[in-house]
Amino acid sequence: MSPKHDAAMLPPTKMDVSTAPADRAAVDRLGAWIVLSCERTRRRRRSPDLPYGALLGRRLRRPGSEDAGEPCTLDLPNARGTRAVLAAARAEASTFELLGLARRLVGLVWDTGAQDVGVSVEGWGEAGERIMEIVLSALLAKAAPMPCYKRERRPARTLRLRLFGCDASPAFARAFAEAGGNAVARYLAALPPNELTPGHYREFLAGLAAEQRLGFEFLDVAALKRRGAGAFLAVVRGSPAGDAGIAKISYRPARGRRGAPVALVGKGICFDTGGVNLKSHRHMLDMHEDMAGSAIALGTLLALAKLEVDFAVDAWLAIAANHIGPEAYQPHDIVTAVDGTTIEIVHTDAEGRLVLADTLALAARTKPRLVIDYATLTGTCIYSLGRSYSGVFTNREDWLPLLVETGRASGERVWPFPQDADYDKSLESTIADVKQCAVEGDADQILAARFLSRFVGSELPWIHLDLAAAHRKGGLAHVPTDATGFGVRYTCSLLLDRGLTLG
Ligand SMILES: [Zn+2]
Repeated sequence: MSPKHDAAMLPPTKMDVSTAPADRAAVDRLGAWIVLSCERTRRRRRSPDLPYGALLGRRLRRPGSEDAGEPCTLDLPNARGTRAVLAAARAEASTFELLGLARRLVGLVWDTGAQDVGVSVEGWGEAGERIMEIVLSALLAKAAPMPCYKRERRPARTLRLRLFGCDASPAFARAFAEAGGNAVARYLAALPPNELTPGHYREFLAGLAAEQRLGFEFLDVAALKRRGAGAFLAVVRGSPAGDAGIAKISYRPARGRRGAPVALVGKGICFDTGGVNLKSHRHMLDMHEDMAGSAIALGTLLALAKLEVDFAVDAWLAIAANHIGPEAYQPHDIVTAVDGTTIEIVHTDAEGRLVLADTLALAARTKPRLVIDYATLTGTCIYSLGRSYSGVFTNREDWLPLLVETGRASGERVWPFPQDADYDKSLESTIADVKQCAVEGDADQILAARFLSRFVGSELPWIHLDLAAAHRKGGLAHVPTDATGFGVRYTCSLLLDRGLTLG
């Protein structure tokens, strides 16, 4: 049975935003109370503006050498025994550090089972709203449902939040939208591969699109054959189910700017065995998450649709599996992509760039204003950066400072690599237009980006994220699960704060 989209949605959260600071009566009604203080602005060892201020001040641990201190807890002397969860951070703490601190605070709240949760931020001045958004994002990230097949399942927790001492802000609506998109992305990534087959993924998307009033098209194997998408079709030759294809989900604004859509393209390999160049068991284990890029493209579109942005967005999801079998593609095969490029196959485990080549070329034909693609593409990107950053590439090199800065500001951090044209020498083929990859793995993330850039062309602005940070044991920033959904928050910041859609 295919997974249902409503299972992936954030549970309902009631939120009450109050400009008044927390008072004792309000705090006494809470199950848990998060207090995040700014170290620089509070020199005194008490919190004079907060109820139980002297107690809090004595308990609060200051940051040591780090910019964000360890959280601590205190059970307040009231009838409910409200659990206060406290931390202080320096004003200079980065968004990434603050998101991580918020995740640890929320973890301590969760242990109490509390549903009535209050948040106070103290001493941050102008930055208070931003700090509140960070704590809210961590709470929503924790509340997101994840697939569970245990006989005894815990019901999703419905939160009743009180944000004290701040105005209702568009930043909070944005946090909900991003958390919703991130939740869907993580849920899909965590589904076992026998649950999220390409066919089931398609049904999931059709149901979701119908409910959210989004456009939905699916180019199945027959349709891709008619279009000559031989790179994509090479990868799926080993899958007897024949259920692969390219899904296109579309959001159109009810009113507002007309014009070309932003295209979000994602790699959606539901399971990657490596193909006939079979992976070892260790490297194959998490390969149900090789569809994370597609889920992040989808989650980003859902967040933008929820915010009713005034520009059009299309998500193009390359949904397939990389299987072995007598029909499977093999090294030295020559395949022809949808734009006529002939490709010499070198390594069947480099399937991501093949399905993306055709998907990018098809997306590019619709003349979007901007293309962003997301893919768990290369091991070398992980070797280079670890799993706390993702790699970023673009054919607009002057954007790189902005792309990096957006990562810092949003807390989903990216880092660029060189992408000079002379890297193409490694992809020269004696028999075809281009090799799929080099035999040696050196700088494979760069070669993969160079390879993909051919299918977008130089006229369309293009950003490519190699998602080293899509999976990290124990979570990343505000996200507590191994599947991180990295990229939804980043892209929303890129499009909404930096105005990249205007270009
Ligand atoms: Zn692979």
